[in-house]
Amino acid sequence: MKKVTTIIITSLVAVSLVVFTAIIYAKGNQIAEEENVPGELIPLPDESANVSANMTSECKITDNSTTGQNAAVSSGNKELTGNQLKIVYKPVLITEYRKQLAREYANMHYGEYIDTIKPQTIIIHWTASDNMQGTYSYFYREEATVDREYGRLNLTSHFLVDRDGTIYQLTPETFLNRHAIGLNWCSIGIENVGGVNGKQDLTEAQLKANIQLVKYLKDKYPSITYLLGHYQQDHAKKVGLWKEKVSSYYTGKPDPVRIFMQGLIDGTKDYGLTVFEP
Ligand SMILES: [Zn+2]
Repeated sequence: MKKVTTIIITSLVAVSLVVFTAIIYAKGNQIAEEENVPGELIPLPDESANVSANMTSECKITDNSTTGQNAAVSSGNKELTGNQLKIVYKPVLITEYRKQLAREYANMHYGEYIDTIKPQTIIIHWTASDNMQGTYSYFYREEATVDREYGRLNLTSHFLVDRDGTIYQLTPETFLNRHAIGLNWCSIGIENVGGVNGKQDLTEAQLKANIQLVKYLKDKYPSITYLLGHYQQDHAKKVGLWKEKVSSYYTGKPDPVRIFMQGLIDGTKDYGLTVFEP
């Protein structure tokens, strides 16, 4: 009898060990998957990028990153046409991970766990860099490398306009992107390549492209009622567009300076948008 009891106990211990080991193994796999950052799985070939080093958060670029001329991205390129407007689709990386980071950012700064927006304003920027590809590759990655205490979501705008006026669309228009403190929850961002060292050097081709793009967006989203240069961000506070839970999170912006904004305001005056004194 004693022998039988010993066998039963030994068997029970053995079975428990097997079950315990299986649970630990499964748990390990689950953790590995949760920590898997999709954006880091796609290697980007190196290519030096001339990116200005004196830039700070949200619309400014801070590192010498590598380019994202990635096969998976290139193969997805297509051209969209709205009236005579040509938009080249050149998406940055958006996996479930970037969406999660966008929701975390929105929760931290706006108190809403959202990754999409209802556009109410268009915000015009410059990159403070003269390198489209360098800017694109910086925006491409999902996780920020700077200002991470204010959120891990990487910066990007929705559109990037090169110096020859080529319009690239980087994300869906209604994705919540990090490009303007206080305003990401309600704005579509247009970056223009240029403005190195704060100098107004944006081109006529860029102005024309911006005018066309603003019309395209206004027609597509009647909810858009404002047009702002990033340097006019304080005006947004007066009309209820500004939301920011972290009071220390603010930087003054020069882009895209008054002369460019004046041209854009003049060129879009019939579009029914509310603008502010440039
Ligand atoms: Zn800006």
